[in-house]
Amino acid sequence: MNSPRIVRLSVDSRACLAHELCVKACPQVFSLAEGVVSLNPNFQQYLETHAEQILNAEGLCPTRAIVVETEPPRPQPPASPLDPTLKGKSIAELLRATRGLPPMPLWWKFWRR
Ligand code: SF4
Repeated sequence: MNSPRIVRLSVDSRACLAHELCVKACPQVFSLAEGVVSLNPNFQQYLETHAEQILNAEGLCPTRAIVVETEPPRPQPPASPLDPTLKGKSIAELLRATRGLPPMPLWWKFWRR
């Protein structure tokens, strides 16, 4: 499968909840130290060869802390229900921003509380 070319990659450490899903998806690029995920110093060399794993890590990140810009640009993914900017919004606004129900593990976790 042809992955789009990654032109920019960053991790928002404020949004990261240290699940390590990204580290498991692509340990060549992401690493966890002291509860914060960061990009490995030599991550640039893997942008081309590990593009699919990086995009997979982006998709796995429940807080959308991983920001990937590609060429050609991809459509914007729906917002995460854990996005701090959605806090306090109504159910209708939440569903609109996330384009439907969030993935089951997320709402199941909160529903069972
Ligand atoms: S998957 Fe997202 S929230 Fe989890 S450790 Fe990686 S960047 Fe942080």
